[in-house]
Amino acid sequence: MNAHITNTIKLAEFSSVVFFVGAGMSAESGVPTYRGAGGIWTQYRYQDFACQRAFDADPQGVLDFHEVRREAVLTCKPHAGHYALAKLQAAHPRLHVITQNIDGMLQRAGVHVDAELHGSLWRMRCAKHGIREDAATGQFSTRRCPDCDAWLRPDITWFEDAVNEDVFTKAGELIATAELFISVGTSAAVYPAANFIPLARRAGARMIEINPERTEASTLFERCYALPASEALTTLFV
Ligand code: NAD
Repeated sequence: MNAHITNTIKLAEFSSVVFFVGAGMSAESGVPTYRGAGGIWTQYRYQDFACQRAFDADPQGVLDFHEVRREAVLTCKPHAGHYALAKLQAAHPRLHVITQNIDGMLQRAGVHVDAELHGSLWRMRCAKHGIREDAATGQFSTRRCPDCDAWLRPDITWFEDAVNEDVFTKAGELIATAELFISVGTSAAVYPAANFIPLARRAGARMIEINPERTEASTLFERCYALPASEALTTLFV
């Protein structure tokens, strides 16, 4: 491969590009993080709000909690980095986006997301009747399945849940064939999603990290840009 990683990275030089996105991308839009100072899990116990056991014990309480999350996201707007990524994707059809985020911010900026590894706040799920899109407002349009009246739960991966195998398989296939892998705003600390970083490296992708801080995976990258996502995405790529 003759592609060069310089201060302007020409995506057209790579046959396939994967952007691997984490909560740091949304942090700049004001979406609260889950960990760290001010993080949601410093204020709430996940055992009460973000696991199947909590939902089984108190579905209304868990759904109320997720409505608050949805309403918080709706007060935030995509930033310049989200729009820059949408523009890059429109210009490069083999640019794939895999996200750990559940907030839908990328899609709001017009990005096509190939895999939402941890699901979406904007979908509900009935154990028997499957997925229902529910993206209109902060409040859920319905909390009960119209077909069987069971409680609907958010289609996100909670603590103690298994991951969505189909989504992880699709992401793995895209990463295994990527020539360029760009991690944006992830701590690389949440597994099994973080396994995709060494996978990309083993598969021979060129590796770029965008994060103002060093991460547990930084040594696996050829270039680490200590920049916020908005600045990196608007300046580094053509
Ligand atoms: P994380 O919170 O573990 O790490 C965020 C990373 O973003 C950190 O390394 C931080 O240094 C970096 N960062 C902060 N500001 C940044 C900026 N402006 N530009 C670039 N990087 C920046 O997030 P994670 O690695 O995505 O893992 C957290 C897990 O929690 C994921 O599973 C995700 O599903 C979930 N989560 C989702 C959301 C969301 O949907 N917005 C928010 C919080 C957590």
